Amino acid sequence: MTYFWLALAALVVAFFAVIIIRALRFTPKTTVPVEFSEVSVNEQAAISHFADMIRCKTISYYEDERIDKAEFAKFRALLKQLYPNVAAKCTYEEIGPSGVLFSLKGKSSEKPAVFMSHYDVVPVNEEQWTKPAFEGLIENGILWGRGTLDTKGTLLGVMEAAEHLLKDGFVPENDMYFAFAGDEEVAGKSQPVIVETLRSRGIVPALVLDEGGAVVEGVFPGVKQPCALIGIAEKGLMDAQFVIEGAGGHASSPPPHTGIGRLAAAVTRIEAKPFPMTLTKPVAEMFDTLGRRSSFVYKLIFANLWCFLPLLDAMCKKSGGELNAMMRTTCAFTMAEGSKASNVLPPRARMVANLRIISGSTMESTIARLKTLVADEGITTSIMHGTDPCSISRTEGYGWDKLTHAISETWPNAEVSPYLMFAASDSRHYSAISENVYRFSTMELTKEERAGIHGHDEHIPLAKIVKTVQFYVRLMRTL
Ligand SMILES: [Zn+2]
Repeated sequence: MTYFWLALAALVVAFFAVIIIRALRFTPKTTVPVEFSEVSVNEQAAISHFADMIRCKTISYYEDERIDKAEFAKFRALLKQLYPNVAAKCTYEEIGPSGVLFSLKGKSSEKPAVFMSHYDVVPVNEEQWTKPAFEGLIENGILWGRGTLDTKGTLLGVMEAAEHLLKDGFVPENDMYFAFAGDEEVAGKSQPVIVETLRSRGIVPALVLDEGGAVVEGVFPGVKQPCALIGIAEKGLMDAQFVIEGAGGHASSPPPHTGIGRLAAAVTRIEAKPFPMTLTKPVAEMFDTLGRRSSFVYKLIFANLWCFLPLLDAMCKKSGGELNAMMRTTCAFTMAEGSKASNVLPPRARMVANLRIISGSTMESTIARLKTLVADEGITTSIMHGTDPCSISRTEGYGWDKLTHAISETWPNAEVSPYLMFAASDSRHYSAISENVYRFSTMELTKEERAGIHGHDEHIPLAKIVKTVQFYVRLMRTL
């Protein structure tokens, strides 16, 4: 008996020893320090060009008749006017409903790069704004306006950097493309048509860069330093509906279970059984990169996922939120409709859920699981619309190396890490022609600044604009 307890004690000690040793050895990977190169940009010009771009009211709406097409045309004309060297040295094409493609010939066509952005913005709710949204107002070193962060800022960075390099006679080693859409915010056709055009020309990008992550702080447990998060994949997106049709009738003599009651029961069954956890490459690599920068308590977990993954999963399921969304398909019920009057049973009741699908699953497998959970023959469960998750990009090789190098040069304190993006962006179309699609908004953003994206009082400090331009210069001249 004593031997049994001794053996058990030895096992427990060994277990803790292994966990602690693994955590102690879970240190940041050594990287070669990046040599910093000075880039002097014309700050005044960049800022004034940015204000000009903000003054174009390129607001996207789902209803075509509400779109002010003249403002979009004004924006496109502005590009050619502000960037004469880009206009002279690149081929300019308008593609699809509002797409713009600048093609720059390099010495080789072997490793082409695509710089994406979009110049449409979401509408503003003017009552909530304390500053004008479309005047390009600059006050105390801050530029205010819709699109400063999402994402005329990155578009400006691309154009300023290209102009800066081309005016001095720069010829890139490889071909470059600047691909801008005017309908990203309404999931329009411009970027898909540009992708089709590139594909028909046999172009296989070695690097595609679009908006996405950013240089942020306080987003990963236990990590204090800034992190440069590069989205290497996006979750899929699907709206599903649950419909029950019945006889209707007066609410004074109802059946034992109403249509809404049955829908509610189905919702409860779905919420009680979250989708299974999937540790995808972007998230596994993020844990392995940022976990090493984390505090010791978190290192214990991230260095020992072989035994703590179920615990982490349980914590995520309980807490919900971003960490949970990285680990599984999520399902959020967002709309419900029944009868028009309080005393009438609805002849038709409906609920809608918005799902974000994890890599490895599909819309088909997701709806199949929902149908199983609903388990009510009277409820019709169907896909309204959506898109499967896109493929996962590489975290090695030419495109990744060039990108991460330029990031480290511009934000030397930031830990560069892959991550999984929840939002859907135009970049997903590029996974059809490239394994090197990266989502990184080239800015350092505070939590407060991030709240301005699709919210009110969107703004950017001028110093950050300058850094964005410097980043693109550093990246382009290595391509
Ligand atoms: Zn955007």
